[in-house]
Amino acid sequence: MDCIFCKIIAGEIPSTKVYEDGQIIAFRDIAPVAPVHVLVIPKAHIESVAGITGDHAGLMGHIWTKIPEIAKAEGLNQFRIVTNTGADANQTVNHLHFHIVGGRKLATAFG
Ligand code: AMP
Repeated sequence: MDCIFCKIIAGEIPSTKVYEDGQIIAFRDIAPVAPVHVLVIPKAHIESVAGITGDHAGLMGHIWTKIPEIAKAEGLNQFRIVTNTGADANQTVNHLHFHIVGGRKLATAFG
């Protein structure tokens, strides 16, 4: 599958990982928009939030319990989670990912 994030998971493309377990990895965004900008992704290839089904309920619970842990490990207790879904929302990589962005005062969220 020609998916850049699947290649990162497979170790075929380098990344700066900050967390990994059996279900997810978190790594630094290559083009950070803030002092902390980490992407949290499932190892399973899910295209976007629009591709989440009931089969993913456990995985989603796992991701959402790990996000605050990863943020805290990055020194954040205030941050933004962004999940662009589809081209109109400017999703550029079609593998589900949650941006953790923080470390500075952010502008208002919606464009
Ligand atoms: P989105 O635009 O919401 O789909 O987010 C995709 C994100 O992936 C962007 O913030 C990119 O900077 C980031 N990105 C793309 N390629 C890489 C890579 N090889 N390593 C780390 N981050 C990447």
